[in-house]
Amino acid sequence: MSIRYFQPSYQEARSQFLAAAAVQPNKTWQDARIHPLQGSQGEPLALDSLWLGPRDAERLLVVQSATHGIEGFAGSAVQQALLNRDLELPENTALLLLHAMNPWGFSFRRRVDEAGIDLNRNFVDFYKPPENPGYADLAQALVPKSWNQEALHAADLKLEAYRQTHGETAYELAVSGGQYTHPEGLFYGGHAPSWSRQQLEALAEELLLAKREAVAIIDVHTGLGDYAVGEVICDHPPASQGVRWAKHWYGEAVTEPFLGTSSSVPKQGLIDFFWHALLPERCCFVTLEFGTGSTDQLFHVLRADHYLAQKKPGEVSPALINQLNQELQEHFCPSAAAWREAVVKQGLLRIDQALGGLAAL
Ligand SMILES: [Zn+2]
Repeated sequence: MSIRYFQPSYQEARSQFLAAAAVQPNKTWQDARIHPLQGSQGEPLALDSLWLGPRDAERLLVVQSATHGIEGFAGSAVQQALLNRDLELPENTALLLLHAMNPWGFSFRRRVDEAGIDLNRNFVDFYKPPENPGYADLAQALVPKSWNQEALHAADLKLEAYRQTHGETAYELAVSGGQYTHPEGLFYGGHAPSWSRQQLEALAEELLLAKREAVAIIDVHTGLGDYAVGEVICDHPPASQGVRWAKHWYGEAVTEPFLGTSSSVPKQGLIDFFWHALLPERCCFVTLEFGTGSTDQLFHVLRADHYLAQKKPGEVSPALINQLNQELQEHFCPSAAAWREAVVKQGLLRIDQALGGLAAL
């Protein structure tokens, strides 16, 4: 049963990943970049990387997990499932697993990192960060000072008024497109490269990733789109090489935020853009996004998470903390066995398709 690859904590997920890594016959390199902080159980936090296959391979598949910390339960499960089956890599092809891009968020069960940064909005030029005036209009309503019926009702009215005036897409762009002004808010891209971004940039140099001929990247996410469906989202510019490869390898169901065909709106500072710039016309980055609930529910659980994060110990009742944390966990990693099986099955299918696509180039 593939659901056994879902672990109850970051600590357990890391330990299972490392145990599986230790017995890989074609392992040629392994590394752990240690985070300066400790995890929620006092455990070490790390961005672990594992290279299988030839170090000088011209073709490479990269599988990333936990770019959004709490979403790492699913991404880690896919990686563990992959390591627990007989893996045959095509000739001249290697596999790089990046386990827990944002280990702090994974351990503390938050989407953001220790500085409140959404790593998937952090890849911008900080000399001229993007502007998002819509977010400033909504900031107070999105993260209310109180979490009771009255306060939430007033906040919801404000959000609904914005949605009515500007339309659904403009609303989603304002909320989730990325903002660089409210560190305590949702989808905050930071004011400098995050720890995770710095590690990825250093790893890319150390591993000579820019020298490869073709690189496929699959970044596993959860929380947006139809339940138990792994949407293959491609944020390469329309009609570019990256889109062509994605459609060729994964099929016409590949969606494109730039064309409005995805459950995701176009966003600022995606980790995709790091890879696009590193390997122009030589990479195919897709977000494999497993749906769990509605976009409204996603925004709701994230608002609750950010509400809790701004409170001091003792300010919120333990019962409410517990309830909101459980809703957050269930949104990003549903406990239903059918959902978890779907994640592993579709994750492995997409990995096979990527390897097949690389081999056929
Ligand atoms: Zn995500």
